[in-house]
Order: sequence, then C-alpha cells, then structure tokens
Amino acid sequence: MIDCLIIGAGPGGMTAGIYAKRANLKTVMLEKGAPGGKMTTTFEVDNWPGSGRISGPDLSMEMFTHTQNTGVEYQYGDVANITVEDGFKRVHLNDGSHVDAKTIIIASGMDSRRLNATHEEKYLVRGISFCAVCDGAFYKGQHVVVLGGGNSAMEEANYLTTLDIDVTIVHRREGFRADQHAIDIAKANPRISWKLGYVLTEYMGDNFVESIKIKNVETGEEEILETAAVFMFIGHLPNTQFVKDLNITNDWGFIDANAKMETSVPGIFAIGDVIDKELRQIVTASSDGAIAAQNAVKYLESQKHLT
Ligand SMILES: Cc1cc2nc3c(=O)[nH]c(=O)nc-3n(C[C@H](O)[C@H](O)[C@H](O)COP(=O)(O)OP(=O)(O)OC[C@H]3O[C@@H](n4cnc5c(N)ncnc54)[C@H](O)[C@@H]3O)c2cc1C
Repeated sequence: MIDCLIIGAGPGGMTAGIYAKRANLKTVMLEKGAPGGKMTTTFEVDNWPGSGRISGPDLSMEMFTHTQNTGVEYQYGDVANITVEDGFKRVHLNDGSHVDAKTIIIASGMDSRRLNATHEEKYLVRGISFCAVCDGAFYKGQHVVVLGGGNSAMEEANYLTTLDIDVTIVHRREGFRADQHAIDIAKANPRISWKLGYVLTEYMGDNFVESIKIKNVETGEEEILETAAVFMFIGHLPNTQFVKDLNITNDWGFIDANAKMETSVPGIFAIGDVIDKELRQIVTASSDGAIAAQNAVKYLESQKHLT
C-alpha cells in the first residue's frame, strides 16, 4: 500500500514528494493536470532562490525531473472524494477507481476568481496578474490598476505603491468588503487613486495590456484608463470540493492546518495555497511540503497498525 499519497503536483506537492521518498516512504503524486501546478501558467519567476529569473514551465520541469530522479511515482488522477476507515485512507477518483494510502498530503492549490471581461484570456500572462508579490516588481515606476474592494485589494494596492508604482483601485461599488483599517490605510496613501462604481469591461494593447475600458455602473458612461497591468483581487476558489465530507475547511473553503501541516484528521496533511495562510508563494508551498512529509513519517512511526 502507498505510504504517502500526495494530491497535486505543484511546488508544494513535488517538494513533499521528494522529502517523503527520501525518507523511504512509498510515495505517489496524483495530478489531474500537468506537473508544476500554477507555475506552468507563470510567465517568469524571479523569487525562487538559486534560479535567478526562470520561466514557470522551466521551473516546473526542473522540479518534476527532480521528483522522478528521486523515485516519486507520478499518476494521473482527478480526486473526487476521500474516505477514512480505521486510519486507512481511500481516495476516490472521478473515473470511479480508487487509491488506498496510509497518509495523504493535500496540495491541490487554489484558483483566483476571474472577471471574464472582453479579451481577458488573451492578456492572462501579458499584464493581468493575481499576485502583487510575484509580479509587482516588473512594473516599477509605472501605473497599474488594482481590481476589487476586499482586504486583498487594499493591502496589495498599498504594497504595490512601496515598489514605486502608482495605483488606481477600480471597484464596482462605492462601499467595500475590506476592513475599515485596511480602507483607511489605502485612502491615506497619496499614490492610490480611486474609480468607484466602475466595472472593467475590456482589455486593450498590442501584446501586453496597455489600457482598459471601464464603465460607470449607474450612467453606463465608458472611459479608457491607461495602465501597464491589472492586478485582480476579486476572490479565491480553493480546490477543496473533494474534502467537503471531512469537515477540514474554514468558512472560505481553505483547509485549516497547524504548524505541522496536520489537518484535524490524523494522517491527513495539507500544504501550500489550499491552506489558510499568510503568503501564497512557491517557496512557502515548498516549505509546507517539506514539513508535511517529515510529519507524515512521524505519524507512520506512531501508528504501528498501519505498517
Ligand atoms: C499567474 C501567477 C503567477 C505567480 N507567480 C509567482 C512567482 O513569481 N513567484 C512565486 O513564488 N509564486 C508565484 N505565484 C504563486 C505560486 O504559483 C503558488 O503559490 C504555488 O504554485 C502554490 O503551490 P501549490 O503546490 O500549493 O499549488 P498549485 O501550484 O496550485 O498546484 C496544485 C496542483 O493540484 C492539482 N489539483 C487540484 N485539484 C486536484 C484534484 N482534485 N485532483 C488531482 N489534482 C488536483 C492542480 O492541477 C495543480 O497542478 C504565482 C501564481 C499565479 C497564479
């Protein structure tokens, strides 16, 4: 039987795989897409130590090759549900088959909610970003748009101004979902301007975003706003539908995990973007993966009836 089954082969899952396999666990990574996770759709990564500036697909391949050289098994599979009986875990796949394991590390990531305005698909890695820490540095000295009215929009807008960037926040309402404190800080920031009561309807530019069309929700009047990028913070969609029966998610759908990456179900760990955490990055997902694998080893040592 599999000692450690990892759901998702992003940077978190792949790092967990390397650590688990090096600890002599029979380790399998289940993935429904391509290995690399969100890195496969990242134009350039500039903050993974040791690699300098590297394309997301190249970094994905480097990590995947590392897992394969270490002996981690890779299997295609779209997870639909997980059940647990007497400590043994059964992972049910969408095709009706199942895989049994003694421990599970959930590394299924999250998606960012999209607006689906005209030409959005075309500019997805060409000026549309969902991560200020990842991409902000590319727009130093320029003007960008932040979309949204929640805490992420306020905090990320403030963060972008620290990188010598001017920001316009475009939000469809006059009111905000963000905490008053976050709003106050953003309102007091002289480098942030506001377009409230507007929706973004279209992206424009040759190869990269150069401007956007926004529409006043009350008057219907349209305006063109020049911008080097659009940072979209209109909500997250954690990939946790398949754990709903385990009751390990919070009100926003993220999995609650402690510092050992344990969930409330013994032997089931969760890591990376899918957990409730402060900073969602490649390096933090990888860090979580290393911790989870070490604790999976300790869990197996303590559960003799599973071995
Ligand atoms: C456009 C963009 C640019 C970014 N740029 C950077 C950057 O420059 N630097 C940086 O550090 N971070 C960057 N990030 C953030 C970084 O990519 C993520 O924090 C990181 O990939 C999270 O890793 P993860 O392993 O938790 O999840 P993911 O990378 O999301 O991987 C999750 C994997 O799980 C799989 N999966 C999901 N559900 C299932 C299921 N039911 N069954 C089987 N498999 C499943 C998915 O297919 C996916 O491959 C960027 C993110 C985006 C979106």
